[in-house]
Amino acid sequence: MNLKDPSLFRTQAYIDGRWADADDGAVLTVRNPADGSVLGTVPKMGATETRRAIEAANAAWPAWRALTAGARARILRRWFDLIVENQEDLAVLMTSEQGKPLAEARGEVLYAASFIEWFAEEGKRIYGDVIPPHLADKRIVVTKEPIGVCGAITPWNFPSAMITRKAGPALAAGCPMVLKPASQTPYSALALAVLAERAGVPAGVFNVVTGSATAIGGELTANPIVRKLSFTGSTETGIKLMAQCAPTLKKLSLELGGNAPFIVFDDADLDAAVQGALASKYRNTGQTCVCANRLLVQDGVYERFAAKLAEAVSQLKVGPGLAEGTNQGPLIDENAVRKVEEHIADAVSKGARILTGGKRHPLGGTFFEPTILADVTPQMKVAREETFGPVAPLFRFHTEEEAIRMANDTEFGLAAYFYTESSSRVWRVGGALEYGIVGINTGLISTEVAPFGGMKASGMGREGSKYGIEEYVEIKYMCIGGI
Ligand code: ADP
Repeated sequence: MNLKDPSLFRTQAYIDGRWADADDGAVLTVRNPADGSVLGTVPKMGATETRRAIEAANAAWPAWRALTAGARARILRRWFDLIVENQEDLAVLMTSEQGKPLAEARGEVLYAASFIEWFAEEGKRIYGDVIPPHLADKRIVVTKEPIGVCGAITPWNFPSAMITRKAGPALAAGCPMVLKPASQTPYSALALAVLAERAGVPAGVFNVVTGSATAIGGELTANPIVRKLSFTGSTETGIKLMAQCAPTLKKLSLELGGNAPFIVFDDADLDAAVQGALASKYRNTGQTCVCANRLLVQDGVYERFAAKLAEAVSQLKVGPGLAEGTNQGPLIDENAVRKVEEHIADAVSKGARILTGGKRHPLGGTFFEPTILADVTPQMKVAREETFGPVAPLFRFHTEEEAIRMANDTEFGLAAYFYTESSSRVWRVGGALEYGIVGINTGLISTEVAPFGGMKASGMGREGSKYGIEEYVEIKYMCIGGI
């Protein structure tokens, strides 16, 4: 890896302000998904090291919460500045371990930084209340206080942003954090820790523990010192973590799977819809929880939309993320490719047509052709399960009611999109979709200023915006008598 600042590449975990190996010296290997080459190792830690990190966080908590929000904001602002200054190195690290095109990685680094900047400021506005009392000799005051030590478990698809949208509000609110990053992408997390240390985040306030998901996750969920767990990943794992947290009644934020519908009505601006579908479907090789998973297209424009989308998709350039001009990198691993192949084979066996793509890319490895399937029906796997790959299945519908019914016919409720030029339809359909996030005439909905999160099996809680910081505070009410 060619970094301007090679010290951003760390192969040790970060606990209590110190760089550390696993107690038994065990390591995990990290590979570049573009060519399978070994990037390096990280410590394979377990419950003991995690406990140490939790205890360090707890010890650091009183001094961190005692700072004014402004003092914490100045430290976080330096962290933000350092992330931005090191954008290029962080992007190269990210592309090397995750595979996304460098342009997308650069974008993610700035997006990740934006959560630190935004929450540093928002921490100053964690207002309480003074409530008119129920008795003349009483006064009622409501304050919001940091919840305490927070655990965070993050996925590989956004190696930096999924961390900062948890660490930003937690630290700004006065909470320390113990983070377990995904084992495929630990280097982005460790580089963030290097910059946090340089920014002046005190020892113990931000810890990164790499290693065994079940051992680290087991300790983070069982340890009573941890008062809050924030997780982004699959619904299956989210359910397990929630059950594991039940005995110690932790507050939870869960950002889980999606099965996003992308509806194109007859009255849509088709060129805009094609651009939106491209951005929403093929970004990060289809590996985002808000990727359009089901494209529902109305009869009148079905063939025209399919042809325009196929034309645009055939222009996408597949290649290693670090290569100039790449629009689509490799999938994260072989299992991901197998799931994509399985979904396509299942759809084709039940009558779907392949408009473009449909197979592994000639580059080999985990590269896959951007694919469009037409004549897809609700009986096919692509209708029910999140594909997490570059496959756009096109469903046909006749009426608005049918589109809404099809869109809501899933246990998930994270993101939905629709394209229409009718303002009354915007309100009708926007209101009827059972989703936490609705993109209307846009395929890009992520920003630090808006609440991101899902309904139903897509989880609970919100990240980003003024709502995101509420996840990291407790409400206290003081009743003052004898006045
Ligand atoms: P994905 O399919 O995106 O990898 P997962 O939910 O399996 O989704 O993983 C997301 C994160 O959760 C990763 O950091 C992974 O290591 C972690 N993880 C997976 N299984 C467990 C578990 N049983 N306990 C704690 N963490 C887990």
